[in-house]
Amino acid sequence: MQSLVTQRRLTVQAEETRVLGACLGRWARTGDIVACRGALGAGKTTFVQGFAEGLGVGGDDYVRSPTFALVHAYHGRIPLYHFDFYRLSSCAEVQGIGFEEYLEADGVVIIEWADKFPEILPPMRLEVSIRIADSDRRWLQWMAYTTSYGRYFLHAD
Ligand code: ADP
Ligand code: MG
Repeated sequence: MQSLVTQRRLTVQAEETRVLGACLGRWARTGDIVACRGALGAGKTTFVQGFAEGLGVGGDDYVRSPTFALVHAYHGRIPLYHFDFYRLSSCAEVQGIGFEEYLEADGVVIIEWADKFPEILPPMRLEVSIRIADSDRRWLQWMAYTTSYGRYFLHAD
């Protein structure tokens, strides 16, 4: 049994969530899977925007919620594949949009509403949970069961 690594931060306004996302995105490597959870309006898309920026995605490759396209690909120093499971209703549907192929691809996979289908998520993943404290404050907690994601913790400060 591997030990759980976890870290938590309170952000004030969207900008701080974006900056924290950028701090983490800087350490992303090919093959990483980032599973985000949190209520509607918690700040998942905001976090992904920062993460993309930290990964080197340029300002003209703007990150918005992939609700309608189901997956968006961005091009930073490595590709970033952004999923949103909000409107998907079954694992079969997720598989139907090629989710498993993206997991094996040459980039990072980041997912909003990842907790909807935990059974299709690889156990080797970084979990990001966002909790609404009040109108402009959010608790962001990130955790992993594997030391291969240790870089996200060592450099998070
Ligand atoms: P989600 O993708 O989880 O539905 P979004 O990132 O689209 O959420 O929206 C988050 C909303 O909450 C935005 O309107 C943003 O301005 C607001 N907000 C307020 N405080 C924060 C914070 N500390 N972090 C992130 N978003 C915040
Ligand atoms: Mg969103």
